[in-house]
Amino acid sequence: MNISFHGAAREVTGSCHRLQVTDARGVQRQVMFDCGMFQGEYMCGSKNQDEFGFDPSTIDAVFISHPHADHTGRLPKLIKEGYRGAIYMTEPCASLAKLVLEDAYHVMKEDAERCGSSVLYELEDLTLTFKQVQKVSYHQQIEIVPGVVAMFHEAGHVLGSAYISVDAEGKRVVFSGDIGNDDVPILPNTEAISHADVVICESTYGHREHEPMETRGKLLKDAIEGIIRTRGVLMIPAFSIERTQELLFEIDRLLLHELQTKIPIYLDSPMAIKATALYRQFKQYLRFDVPITSEPDQDFFSFPNLRETLTVPESKSIADVAAPKIVIAGSGMMSGGRIMHHLIRYLPDAKNQLLIIGYQAHGTIGRQLFEGAKKVRIFRQEIEVHAKVEAIGAFSAHGDMNKLTRWLKPEEGPVPTKIFLVHGDPESKEVFATHLRHALRTEVIIPEYKKSYEV
Ligand SMILES: [Zn+2]
Repeated sequence: MNISFHGAAREVTGSCHRLQVTDARGVQRQVMFDCGMFQGEYMCGSKNQDEFGFDPSTIDAVFISHPHADHTGRLPKLIKEGYRGAIYMTEPCASLAKLVLEDAYHVMKEDAERCGSSVLYELEDLTLTFKQVQKVSYHQQIEIVPGVVAMFHEAGHVLGSAYISVDAEGKRVVFSGDIGNDDVPILPNTEAISHADVVICESTYGHREHEPMETRGKLLKDAIEGIIRTRGVLMIPAFSIERTQELLFEIDRLLLHELQTKIPIYLDSPMAIKATALYRQFKQYLRFDVPITSEPDQDFFSFPNLRETLTVPESKSIADVAAPKIVIAGSGMMSGGRIMHHLIRYLPDAKNQLLIIGYQAHGTIGRQLFEGAKKVRIFRQEIEVHAKVEAIGAFSAHGDMNKLTRWLKPEEGPVPTKIFLVHGDPESKEVFATHLRHALRTEVIIPEYKKSYEV
């Protein structure tokens, strides 16, 4: 068998990997793990326009680990270029992916129009994508063809997220998708690997250790109290899926137990509002660390101060409300979305604060701010940064070095003979690879884009 890497090879986004195996009849089969979009750069001239590097019509099955655009964003392009087989994902993932891909379609169309390039796919390709989706349960045996069996396992990264194992040719290959942080208060923990010969593993935070989970409530409380003191605006850029819901959960707990304040808290993101509704709908897939009966409103994602601003006029009206106030808005990497308008308005004032709670890819405004930029360019305007900028790693939806290392050690049997590191910055991968070679004494490979490896 062999594996080739068609995205997220030497970078974080664009997750897309292809496994070639021989089935029980001796026929060559190809399965794909994820089909994500490259992010942090505009569509114009980006790698999203590249050919996949294989013929999509020859693929036998596609497995999607979770709904984030960097894992699903090129699915309609795959369909457009001829893929007609099943796209396997969990039920909540299918609902969330629909939100993500519809949003991505509009962003892509606007980008393409702006720079006069062609779109990656048309609306009918998007419609067709969801016709090919097959919803699967965790631990369901998915026999694609005799001798090739896949299974989804809990990844604890977002609602409905999975890592995927494929058994073929007497070996087991595991694809991590994105592996969640430890003890996330609203998600089940990542399931341990029972056995694996080869693992394709993400490495977003393979080079660092997060603050312990308990500290995030305290850091958030400090930020809210700080903004009340300065009578400023607290901006929290958040990914619509997971980060927003964890944040709402955390604020809900703080307001119920530790913090007495009536300052308005705006959820200024249509996608986050819709994703939160899906978190409510699929709550049987979540695992709260406190019983829901302890909640006065029986809902962990809402509280009296919360204002959901779905429409553009509602969003614009936030500016008219006197500080202190809190605005949660997308996009999480500050590469577009409503947060940009808030950054323009509030970054120049030292009373305000920007709280970064997620990974910031190279090339994004978020990354510049995270690295301490004193000036940023937003919509052709030079914006001075006087607001306080802080980051909380414990909100990360990705496991850190310790978590990933623990996960890579199977419960039974030997450590995997080969580990491929994907989905990470080059420096993160190098540090993590060295660490793993030492800790697990196995072969660790940092694969190259579109290159194939025999396993
Ligand atoms: Zn993800």
